[in-house]
Amino acid sequence: MTATFDVIVLGLGAMGSATAYHLAARGAKVLGIDQFDPPHDQGSSHGESRIIRQVYYEHPLYVPLVQRSFALWRKLEKESGEHLLTVTGGLMIGRDSSGLIQGCVRAANEHSLPIEQIRLSELQERFPQFMPIQGFTALLDPAAGFLAPEACIRTHLQMAVRAGATLHTNEEVLKWGPTADGGVRVQTSRGAYEAGKIVIAAGPWARELVGAMGPQLVVERQTVLWFKPPGDREQWGPANFPIFMCEFDDGQLVYGFPVQERGWKAAVHYEGEHVRDVRSARRNVEPHDVARVRNAVARLFPWVSEAELTHSAVCYYTDTQDLRFVIDFLPGLPQVLISSPCSGHGFKFATAIGELQASLVLEGKCDFDVAPFRIDR
Ligand SMILES: Cc1cc2nc3c(=O)[nH]c(=O)nc-3n(C[C@H](O)[C@H](O)[C@H](O)COP(=O)(O)OP(=O)(O)OC[C@H]3O[C@@H](n4cnc5c(N)ncnc54)[C@H](O)[C@@H]3O)c2cc1C
Repeated sequence: MTATFDVIVLGLGAMGSATAYHLAARGAKVLGIDQFDPPHDQGSSHGESRIIRQVYYEHPLYVPLVQRSFALWRKLEKESGEHLLTVTGGLMIGRDSSGLIQGCVRAANEHSLPIEQIRLSELQERFPQFMPIQGFTALLDPAAGFLAPEACIRTHLQMAVRAGATLHTNEEVLKWGPTADGGVRVQTSRGAYEAGKIVIAAGPWARELVGAMGPQLVVERQTVLWFKPPGDREQWGPANFPIFMCEFDDGQLVYGFPVQERGWKAAVHYEGEHVRDVRSARRNVEPHDVARVRNAVARLFPWVSEAELTHSAVCYYTDTQDLRFVIDFLPGLPQVLISSPCSGHGFKFATAIGELQASLVLEGKCDFDVAPFRIDR
């Protein structure tokens, strides 16, 4: 006999683990399925750290969602006893006319958020690790910091199980489809299951699972590097070094984190190689990948040109055309919610997205306006 559930969550990465937790916490009978054993390093959610920031330059519409996320990450920490979120402050650097600085100012004004302008002369005194660039402004978002992505996923999954969810790992979903009674049937490498609803949270694999019914998506291969920073390691640690983003005059964006176990991590935001098929994509980091990121980051931290590389990783962005998220039921299939094409900036929101997806699936509505995330926006 086919096992039946209220909701199947397909994919247990950032979005799926959070969704499975919030659904189970509300009493739904949940089956979560993943082809690997999350947290793993094959998708979009690995690599020690993810930036979380409140003064959201991309658009002010994300501010209430990130505020809910801060509250929910703290709640999850309290309930689980795990440390997930480290506040370091966040330095946003660029010209006043740059998209980064203008976007921050807009978000801060619209939502009355605290933000501090740091003059060039002050930057050297307060954050001597940063090279001042003539004509650039620095804004400090005091709420910003970083999340530990692997711990976040592990904790959501543990709490989901504690709340009664069934999780199947190392089990690939081969196909899914609607049933005659308006539910869904899922065929996996190990069996078949039915449910009233399904949440497809398959990250960079979403394209192949949803096909033409879903949004147009581009998967970008990103390279992330860790370096040995110069001098006293402490000055690069979370107590002394904030997360940062910097937009250069040609629009290139780089970002980075305080030093952690693997070293001092930095990368380029966007500009990644487009990937047709994640399953056959190049996973190794090659010399030209290292040179590209090293050269970009050295524009702000010149020592990076010669620094010892301590670690590297490949990870995938799943981008929509306007770089906004997709959280929507598939056209004509109100039992199928697609989640997670988060265009390289979704991790911080995972717990709030999990909560709102649980509401959408169980009640058909949620506390946030998800119209900007509709497929047909
Ligand atoms: C290098 C990099 C840096 C980033 N930095 C930030 C940042 O600083 N801040 C931020 O907020 N966001 C950041 N992001 C974005 C963020 O990490 C992603 O938006 C988020 O992790 C996406 O999570 P996901 O659940 O959609 O995908 P994933 O975590 O990849 O999960 C998808 C899951 O679905 C499973 N799956 C897929 N297909 C199947 C199948 N057929 N059967 C079974 N299971 C399946 C996969 O195994 C996987 O576990 C970054 C992303 C990258 C790559």
